[in-house]
Amino acid sequence: MTITSDSVVTLHYTVSTEDGTTLDSSEGKSPLVVLLGRRFLIEGLEDALIGKSKEDSFNVSVNPEKAYGERADELVQTVPRSMFDGMDVEVGMSFRATTPQGEQSVIIIETTDEEVVVDGNHPLAGIPLTFDVTVVDVREATKEELEHGHVHQEASSCCDPKTGECSEDKH
Ligand code: ZN
Repeated sequence: MTITSDSVVTLHYTVSTEDGTTLDSSEGKSPLVVLLGRRFLIEGLEDALIGKSKEDSFNVSVNPEKAYGERADELVQTVPRSMFDGMDVEVGMSFRATTPQGEQSVIIIETTDEEVVVDGNHPLAGIPLTFDVTVVDVREATKEELEHGHVHQEASSCCDPKTGECSEDKH
């Protein structure tokens, strides 16, 4: 069968930047098992999987708008060092912060005696990515998986037969 937006896909992947630096890979590990259409994967990779079949291997370049978005300058902010009252602030430190866009992860990119520059962009924002993918397996999602919006091991039910509730350890 070919992959649709309701398929459960088992895949091996390697993701790299344009200059060939590997960012992440499932090589030597268990393949990734995902239910498509639920945004577990970035949009560009999901789009590329649709229509492929078991044992297909392919390579796809994904622009930032279909990956982690473009960088937004307004997410880089300079704040007074006094906001970090008593903390050791260092370039590269990341933490959760409340911003106009809601709670998000920010990273310190610059410090001076008075000020700290923080960046709330995703570390991969603005970066085109290349995926090398092998489709290990594909099957249709069960009705229950589609209802829950996630994959169940071996397509078995994750629900407790008594309570009917989804038990996390079966995922
Ligand atoms: Zn479930």
